[in-house]
Amino acid sequence: MAKQKPKKWNDYLWIVSATYFTLGFFNIIFAWLGVVCFLIPLLMAIFGGGKGYCNNYCGRGQLFLQIGNTLGWSSKRVAPRWLSSKWFRNGFLVFFLFFFIQMIVLTVHVAKGLDSLHQTIHLLWTFDVPWHWAYPVAVDPWVAQFAFGLYGIMLTSLIVGVILTVVFRPRTWCVFCPMGNMTQMICKLKNQ
Ligand code: SF4
Repeated sequence: MAKQKPKKWNDYLWIVSATYFTLGFFNIIFAWLGVVCFLIPLLMAIFGGGKGYCNNYCGRGQLFLQIGNTLGWSSKRVAPRWLSSKWFRNGFLVFFLFFFIQMIVLTVHVAKGLDSLHQTIHLLWTFDVPWHWAYPVAVDPWVAQFAFGLYGIMLTSLIVGVILTVVFRPRTWCVFCPMGNMTQMICKLKNQ
């Protein structure tokens, strides 16, 4: 039997990810911590860390492995090839950025008083789900709006990633994940 590698501290980052998603059910302001998940992979890629974030530090990727391998919820079927095709990865990145920019625009509108705070989570790019219970202490409306928006994006990626983990292999989401795609683009540009 193959000897198991001893676990390192960063093998447990899925707990951080699970905690992040749990906190969002109690106080939406914790969603701001998700900014770290956006910045660290890009900064690591820019400053020579390559795909180090995806390979070693992404709690969400690890969470898919926990669900698929440790809990055994994955069918382990091979995903269709088009999911990892260039056109799909880049098309999905554009789709993702469209919703990200929309979220920033709404935050700016709320900051300027042009729109009121939406205490909802925009799930699966379609549904506005009421989430007012997770806003126990009022903060600046734009601060809360950004948190609601970012959490919707993060939770959507988790839900889609978990569904793909169950239907196909764990980390199927990673083949077209916008963050993974952007870090890959940065690495390619740097290697040119
Ligand atoms: S591709 Fe996305 S979800 Fe997968 S490890 Fe990288 S950042 Fe995490």
